[in-house]
Amino acid sequence: MNETLLEVRNLQLHFPQRSGVFLQHRRYVRAVDGVSLDIRAGETLGLVGESGCGKSSLGKALLNLYRPTAGEIRYRGRNIAGLGDRPMRPLRRQLQIIFQDPFESLNARQPVANILEEPLLIHGIGDASQRRQRVRELLELVGLPPQAANKYPHEFSGGQRQRIGIARAIALEPELIVCDEAVSALDVSVQAQILNLLLEIQQRMGLTLLFISHDLSVVRHMADRICVMYLGQLVEIGDADTLYQRPAHPYTQALLAAVPQIGGDRELPAQPLAGDIPSPLAPPPGCRFHTRCPHADAQCRSSEPAMEVIASDSGRAQQVACHHWRKLR
Ligand code: SF4
Repeated sequence: MNETLLEVRNLQLHFPQRSGVFLQHRRYVRAVDGVSLDIRAGETLGLVGESGCGKSSLGKALLNLYRPTAGEIRYRGRNIAGLGDRPMRPLRRQLQIIFQDPFESLNARQPVANILEEPLLIHGIGDASQRRQRVRELLELVGLPPQAANKYPHEFSGGQRQRIGIARAIALEPELIVCDEAVSALDVSVQAQILNLLLEIQQRMGLTLLFISHDLSVVRHMADRICVMYLGQLVEIGDADTLYQRPAHPYTQALLAAVPQIGGDRELPAQPLAGDIPSPLAPPPGCRFHTRCPHADAQCRSSEPAMEVIASDSGRAQQVACHHWRKLR
């Protein structure tokens, strides 16, 4: 659990956007703006935040599906940030993603057998008979019958389609899977089945997961550690238990207060989140959360807080970016 699989340092992902009658103005959406984090082998790292905070962009940037603007992504010590398709290809075996909407991410014109065989073909794994056998194994691993191989994605329910998405992601026996809102589109009862399937497969294969979700109850069920993201930056990182019981950042406190079954356990009074997340085209100066933070003062409006390590009660590491965390815990 302690070996670091992925080290991310000061990662930036800025998307250019043109405006004006002649599209003469160019501005940048700062989707990810100076993120540093480590993902340890075998753990599930949760990444939470409101819609539009940049968490999905960060997940895709970590796999080089978006080319980072600056910063480092070290996978087993090698900086892979910005690597082209050819040098990335062997690494794709190890780094996979499960998307929110399995229907959009599965080729509707191909039967499931072809969808699951495709990554094996691309990477030159096995002969035809071995690949057919592997498809049968994958279907069994995700709890689908062998006959599913001959059907098309539209013939399945949402939960079954996500099982196919999981089967495709594990086909090459990767080390790390980014689960990008992997259960958000599913009914609550189906969500539980898919989460349990992910946990089971993680244990069986020794997988490392980056679990991205706006739903803190779901993340609590899955994650060993959690990163909280706001407007392109991380504001708090910690062990799941510590972070849920004693959140240090006012944004984390507000997110938890909005989930009654979690927020109800906490000692702090509820701090409901007011207003909307500001535009990533022009983030506020100082602390980016100051426009919505009930504790903001002049220092918060002018100076950006750095991420600092704080000691939790249990002695486990917790980091927070807030000038006033000491008096707010
Ligand atoms: Fe609130 Fe200030 Fe802390 Fe930002 S630095 S979270 S504005 S108290």
